Amino acid sequence: MTEGPRNPFIYKPQLGLAPPAKMPGVNEPCWCGSGVKYKKCHRDRESKAEANPFADSAKMRTASKKGRCLHPDSGGGHCGSTAIGSHTVQKNGGLKAIAEEGHVLTTFVGFEDIQKANGAPEPKRMGVNDASTFPGFCNKHDTELFAPIEGSSLNLGPKEAFLFLYRSHCLELARKRVVVGHLPTFKKMDSGKPMQAQFAIQDGMRAYEQGLLLSLTSMEAEKNDMDGALLSENWADVHYCQVEFDGLLPLTTTCGFYPEFDWDGNDLQDLSDLSQPGLPLSFTITSFEGYSSAILVWRGPQDDLRKQFVTSFLGVSDAEKAGRIAAFAFEVSENTQIKPSWWVGLPSSVRERLIAKTAHGTIVAQPEASAMKDVAPLTSPLAVKSVLTSWA
Ligand SMILES: [Zn+2]
Ligand SMILES: [Zn+2]
Repeated sequence: MTEGPRNPFIYKPQLGLAPPAKMPGVNEPCWCGSGVKYKKCHRDRESKAEANPFADSAKMRTASKKGRCLHPDSGGGHCGSTAIGSHTVQKNGGLKAIAEEGHVLTTFVGFEDIQKANGAPEPKRMGVNDASTFPGFCNKHDTELFAPIEGSSLNLGPKEAFLFLYRSHCLELARKRVVVGHLPTFKKMDSGKPMQAQFAIQDGMRAYEQGLLLSLTSMEAEKNDMDGALLSENWADVHYCQVEFDGLLPLTTTCGFYPEFDWDGNDLQDLSDLSQPGLPLSFTITSFEGYSSAILVWRGPQDDLRKQFVTSFLGVSDAEKAGRIAAFAFEVSENTQIKPSWWVGLPSSVRERLIAKTAHGTIVAQPEASAMKDVAPLTSPLAVKSVLTSWA
């Protein structure tokens, strides 16, 4: 077996790594479980050059900009055309409404930025053509598929809700595939380290890898299932809520996340329990005709913890909803675009607090129930204009 990129989708990790009682022979599989011969894997790794995380993250950044169209196409095949930089938030509506001189600030940053900032980088300035894009769909499918939610106004029904959900799921799946594709590179981060450190790093990587692969597997299955629903136009198990404000929030966002707490800080699901897949919720903030909306969508049973999450948000006082949902975007989304003048006008202590929130739920910091009470100070207060739920 030669050393080279393995297919990360079929690579099966083993848990419970202990330092080997005896080193393998040079032609035996390495102790780390890579499947590669010891002589080509960990032998003499302590005397190799230290890994350069920035060089590796640059490769990852390049990979994250390439991809094939994720549309299932008709007939069950895959489109297969090269994906363009698909916007996750409508450029001509939501993004332009908060842009200044054609630019926004974004928390959609690279692994490199995260590492340089020790987990929580400052939002980056970016042109609206590039902000919040990912290699999701080819030009044709990007335009056709999302037309119902990209108009000047929105009439949210099950189909439109499904499209918000589908887009955020494809974004999270594309990002997850990039991270998983780089697992073999991450696993070489112990290069040049003493043996004891190599064991510790490989052991930690196993737990990380197992969580990542379990989550990728369930996300791939969900994507297949969604593709079927899309092709058959079956929106039967789509549930959604739209809260429209009477003005513009200074941000847009799109993500899929696993709600761990409701808005009163009550536990909803324990993501450290790997025996069952988490229940995801799609979250978008964008605007139509100058009014921002928060849109939450899920598939599956109507009355599960996702509904509990949404109804507890509806229970937040109307005066606080806008500030709370704006703060929440920093808490759960890695893909938030910000109006520059609002951001620079915030006291530095508030900016620091919001930036720190972007690291919650990553390997840097645990999510905290108390964070659900956070409020992002808005330039002027926003009231609720309308509320729509699929179950009302
Ligand atoms: Zn090894
Ligand atoms: Zn396509």
